Amino acid sequence: ENRLSARVRNIKPSATMSVDSKTKALLAEGKPVINMSVGEPDFDTPTAAAFAGIKAITNGQTRYTAAAGTLALRQAVARKLMTENGLQFAPEQIVISNGAKHTLYNVLLSICDDGDEVILPAPFWVSYPEQIELAGAKTVVVPADASTNYKITPEALAAAITPRTKAIILNTPSNPTGAVYHEDELLALGEVLRKHDIYIVLDEIYERLVYDVKQTSLAALCPDLRDNALVVNGFSKAFAMTGWRLGYVAGPTDVIKAVSSLQSHSTGSPSSISQAAGLTALSHFDPSVVETFMHRRDVLVEGLNSLPGVTCIVPEGAFYAFPDISGVIGKSYEGRTISSANDYCELLLEAALVASVPGDAFGAPNHVRFSYAVSDDQVAEAVDRMRQFHQRLS
Ligand code: PLP
Repeated sequence: ENRLSARVRNIKPSATMSVDSKTKALLAEGKPVINMSVGEPDFDTPTAAAFAGIKAITNGQTRYTAAAGTLALRQAVARKLMTENGLQFAPEQIVISNGAKHTLYNVLLSICDDGDEVILPAPFWVSYPEQIELAGAKTVVVPADASTNYKITPEALAAAITPRTKAIILNTPSNPTGAVYHEDELLALGEVLRKHDIYIVLDEIYERLVYDVKQTSLAALCPDLRDNALVVNGFSKAFAMTGWRLGYVAGPTDVIKAVSSLQSHSTGSPSSISQAAGLTALSHFDPSVVETFMHRRDVLVEGLNSLPGVTCIVPEGAFYAFPDISGVIGKSYEGRTISSANDYCELLLEAALVASVPGDAFGAPNHVRFSYAVSDDQVAEAVDRMRQFHQRLS
């Protein structure tokens, strides 16, 4: 007999978080693991934002705020969306939540009914399918591979749409592939979407982290789709504020009202302190992090491509490399056969002390996700360790 609700029974713990806890256990034993498993910038929250948080505590900004977030922060987010993304939203069309993960959950609960379908391009971020299921909907995966730099084509999108399609989630730049949809690609997807009444959930949390390419919001490129577009973003990646738990959505008034009501009865207002810090963070983005990440990307991707059996496209955004390791499947290390990305990651962690995440959880078997949000030295060291590991494969 199962004491748990049908709703939670099938939920799997997050794959990225379970590798992370294994890694932390090895680190606690004193093993010098290089942790490339976690999606978290290695730099600090901007000092000005941290001090704004402290000031909020000492100034008594320690009470509930409006459930949708403070007016000051929603106004600042509205200004940000206007000046940086060319998107006009009123503060009433914005809800601040406890991280973009929470935002996405709120959004899916607000738009999905039982039996609805949500189109999800694969490879995808691990939490989307679980959140879709929790919202009662069904995930319809549209796969993409290295031949299109892991981006879906308009034809594949069109073929996946049914009368039950309620929404598509588009994450660009992408976790885990680092793929960035270019303007012409977004326009082509928009062309398909405009023939249907489907919500377009745009997860743009990595928008600032793009290398040599321009990041544009589909919502800005296709103004006629604005009434169906939900623009999701957050503070974790751009401002290294993962622990502050702050994200937001901007969208059409009816959906935003629903998200706000839902939030008012579930979590209530997000942390007043984090909101004060976030307000300051918005004007303290440090563009040098883009250069830093780009350099690490280049070192890592070049290193990965030099390993026999491994091929990796050059990601144009976020801070992940997502190599295809098909070429090492069937090989063995000290008598242990590698028959999946899972085996590969386990051996890499044990033998080379490099932590990574197998692609299966992202809907991409035979792939591995490496986060390069670790120091330059660690990226170089990880490449060395992997080279030695690969030399011992037979
Ligand atoms: N969306 C994507 C694609 C992510 O990679 C993450 C974090 O890993 C999130 C959303 C959620 O970020 P947070 O809840 O920290 O704002």
